[in-house]
Amino acid sequence: MPPTHVDLSDVAVVDNHCHGVERGAGGGDVGGWRSLFSESPDPMMRTEAVADTVFYQRLVTEMARHHGVAAGEADVLAARAPYGDAELARRLFTDAGVGALVIDTGYPDPAACLQVDELGTEVALLLRLELELQDLVAAAPTYDDLLGATRANLEGARSRGFAGFKSIAGYRTGLDIRRWPRDEATASFAEARREVELTGSVRLGHKPLLDTLLHVAFEVAAAEQLPVQFHVGYGDPDADLRSAHPLLLRDVLEERAYRHMPVVLLHGCWPFFREGAYLAAVYGNAFLDLSYGIPFLSRPEMRSMTRAALGAAPLSKLMYSSDGARVPELHWMGAHDGRRLIGAALGELVDDGDLTAAQARRGGEQVLRDNARTLYGLGGGA
Ligand SMILES: [Zn+2]
Repeated sequence: MPPTHVDLSDVAVVDNHCHGVERGAGGGDVGGWRSLFSESPDPMMRTEAVADTVFYQRLVTEMARHHGVAAGEADVLAARAPYGDAELARRLFTDAGVGALVIDTGYPDPAACLQVDELGTEVALLLRLELELQDLVAAAPTYDDLLGATRANLEGARSRGFAGFKSIAGYRTGLDIRRWPRDEATASFAEARREVELTGSVRLGHKPLLDTLLHVAFEVAAAEQLPVQFHVGYGDPDADLRSAHPLLLRDVLEERAYRHMPVVLLHGCWPFFREGAYLAAVYGNAFLDLSYGIPFLSRPEMRSMTRAALGAAPLSKLMYSSDGARVPELHWMGAHDGRRLIGAALGELVDDGDLTAAQARRGGEQVLRDNARTLYGLGGGA
C-alpha cells in the first residue's frame, strides 16, 4: 500500500513567524542573491559555499519549475526580474496558499519593505522588544524613568497595532533571562548610557539591564495575554548556539506570574527540536514554531523536525512558519514545504495507527492555520 499523505492543499496557512518583503531585494547580482540564503558572517560562505547547500539547490529547482524556465541561477533570476516587488509577492503568496502573515517588524526596516496593504494577505505585526528597549534607554535620563517608560510604552503596544512581542535575547545576551539585584541593573544602565553619550544610540547587549527590561515586558505580556516569540537555536550571523538553547528558558517558563504569557519558541528550536517539543508538551503556555524556510535545511531534516514535534507535543501547541525575510520566495517555498511535510508526517501517524484520518486532517488544520489564528487574534479563528 502506498504511504498515506494527508491532503492539506486547501488549508490557507498562517505564517506565524516571518519578516517583511524588502523593496528591490534579490534584484542585484548573483552573489547578493545567494547571500539571502545564508546565515554565515563569512563572505565566502554567503556568496560561494551557499550555492552548494541542498536548500539553495532545491530553491533554484523549485523557482525554475514555477516560472517554467531552465534550472539555473541566471534563468530563475531573469524570470523573477520583470515583476514588481508587490506583484511578485502577491503571485507567490497566492500560489502557496498563504492566508495570513505574522510579521516581525524588527528586521528588515519596515520603511524599506512593502506596506501591509501591498501584500495581498491578512497581516499581524509583532514588536521587536530589543529595538524598542534600546530606544527607550537612549531617551531615559534615569533608571527609574526607564522602568516607567518601558511599562507605559509596552502597555500601549496593542493599541499601536501589535499582536505580540518578539525577543532576540537568544542572540544578544542569552535565553537564561535572570532577575538581577538593583545595583547590578543600574550599573548596567550606566554603561548603556555611556554608549549613548559616545555614539548617540545603544546596541542593547548589557545583560543585567536587558534581562530586567524583558521582565517588565513579560509582566505586560502576561497581563494582556500577548504572545512573546523568542529566537531559539539557529539563525542570524551573530547567534551563539550555546546561549540560544531552549532549555535556558526554564526560569521564565517556571515563573507562575507568566503563566498567561504565551511563549513561542521559534525556528523549531533547530537543532534542539526535541527539547522544543518537550517544552511545548510540558508547559501550558509554551508553543513550538515549526519553520520551513529558515533554517535552510534539506527536506529530510525538516521531516525529522516535523516528526519529533508531532510525536511529542499536543497538536494544539505547534504552529507553521517560514521565517521568510526580504524576498517572498522564502515565504512561498516554506508554505509549500510545510504543508507537504506536515501532511506526510501526519500520514505516517495514520499508517502507524496513531491517528485516524479525521484526526490527522484536523491536526494539519491546527498546525497550519487554526492555532496561530487563535493565538494572534486573527479573524476566522477555530
Ligand atoms: Zn525570524
